[in-house]
Amino acid sequence: MMKRSGRGKLLPVLAFIIFSVFVWAAMQAFTDTGFHNSGEKAESSSEISAVSGRTMNDTSETAETTVPSIEYQGHVQNIGWMDWVENGETSGTAGQALRLESLRIRLTDISGSVEYRSHVENIGWTDFVRDGAVTGTEGRFLRIEAIEIRLTGAAADLYDIYYRVHVEDLGWLGWGKNGGPAGTAGYGYRCEAVQIVLAEKGGSAPGPTERVFLEPGIRYQSHIQNIGWTDWVNNGETSGTTGRDLRLEAIRVSLVNVAGGIEYRTHVQDIGWTDYVTDGVTAGTEGLGLRTEAVEVRLTGDASERFDVYYRVHAQNFGWMDWACNGQPAGTAGFGLRTEAMEIVLVLKGGAAPGSTARPFAENKPVSRRGPMVALTFDDGPYATVDARILDLLSEYGGHATFFVAGYRIGEYPDTIRQICSQGSEIGNHTYSHTNLTKLSSSGIRDELSKTDQLIMDLTGKRPALIRPPEGSYNTTVINSIDRPLVLWSVDPSDWETRNASLTISRVLDHVQDGDIILLHSLYTSTVDACETIIPELAARGFQMVTVSELMEARGASFDAGSVIRCVRP
Ligand code: ZN
Repeated sequence: MMKRSGRGKLLPVLAFIIFSVFVWAAMQAFTDTGFHNSGEKAESSSEISAVSGRTMNDTSETAETTVPSIEYQGHVQNIGWMDWVENGETSGTAGQALRLESLRIRLTDISGSVEYRSHVENIGWTDFVRDGAVTGTEGRFLRIEAIEIRLTGAAADLYDIYYRVHVEDLGWLGWGKNGGPAGTAGYGYRCEAVQIVLAEKGGSAPGPTERVFLEPGIRYQSHIQNIGWTDWVNNGETSGTTGRDLRLEAIRVSLVNVAGGIEYRTHVQDIGWTDYVTDGVTAGTEGLGLRTEAVEVRLTGDASERFDVYYRVHAQNFGWMDWACNGQPAGTAGFGLRTEAMEIVLVLKGGAAPGSTARPFAENKPVSRRGPMVALTFDDGPYATVDARILDLLSEYGGHATFFVAGYRIGEYPDTIRQICSQGSEIGNHTYSHTNLTKLSSSGIRDELSKTDQLIMDLTGKRPALIRPPEGSYNTTVINSIDRPLVLWSVDPSDWETRNASLTISRVLDHVQDGDIILLHSLYTSTVDACETIIPELAARGFQMVTVSELMEARGASFDAGSVIRCVRP
């Protein structure tokens, strides 16, 4: 045990002071004869005072009273509590791969307190404790990763407290001071040993004060339409804009306090994927007016072994998409939609994702003329509650559908109409007031359809190419009054009648064939519950899910006025 009373120290202290004064006098003599310059002299004397915790100027006081000291002991994996040490001595181990698990610190022979806390694996910063209490954990196999120590009362008026830790892989870090953090957080590195020193207030540090506390980070900036390069932001902060209809045109990304590298690229309008660039280089374009549609980010070297990189983008019409990881694409392709903002986070390898990872990327694949295809149709909407879930499923499984909407509902759900259109699905005309067209005159029929056309065009800029008459009812007057095809169906599970998801599932999946048009409705949650099974199963069976127009184009069906489409077989 190193504990000694203040009185017991008096004799060695006096001897030390006499020796120090002798050394000081000798150095003055050398300096006068030119052996030392004044800068070196200052450095030498401050080293003595910092490490010993005593200063020349204290001589008269301390000789008569006592000498303050800082004492501490570490609790080390497999060893337990070490002996108390003091004033710059090492507590703990170095190079034995043993973690420091807890720590006690106390002051002697001075009024005031020492307060301290530790950053513990899986826990984070603990509360401050003081004067010999335990910080950290015992018997829980958790490493201390960083510490903070501060003085209060008279001790704080007279002394600065310095401390440094020995960290796995990194060795001794720089000296922290007066409550600042020392160590690491976020790497999973253990502290192995600690040194603590009292130094004359305002004097020099006992050694280097760089690299005191290290946290892994990632910083990034984006080039935004009309704005230019944004400021750099860090670790999950948003770079870019949302809700301002401004395109993100380029990005720059770099790692902070992480060994290894980072690579990233962007998918640019009219260009496609750019080459990967590294660490702070621009990916994307500036001044060309081109939008970025998606990004990919990945780590290399040591960084890829210690961390996962997560990132997500805010895409036009989609909003914030889910998180992509380690080189997956994030954003959209094939929709012509801009990204507007991005967020990037480093996570310890295998740690929890910062949020949902279900759908970081949506791709609008062109329809292939080969292979089986099916047209899902959803009538009587728009209805955001159901349509949004259907659109999520379609983009997850790479499909489109046709939404035959009633004009009277459009004013309530304009965003749904825009979203359907922007995701590559199709809006069809299902009349304005959902009325049976066979009961109307020719002008009544045209009025029902044109009012709805106008509302859709106002929102999407596109006139619907197809009409579905309510209840599937039509007659010669209807045929003669319209300038587009009428679309009926070949599979009808009567979802609106049964409101039963499992019946809807079996009635669709037991009968579906290549070229079918399937009649479903936007108004019922039981229908979208059924789609949770139907859409993945159709994808698994190799069906392309296409709009009715895509089905007709792929197979050469007639878009002539008055043609009636029920299915389009190969
Ligand atoms: Zn209907």
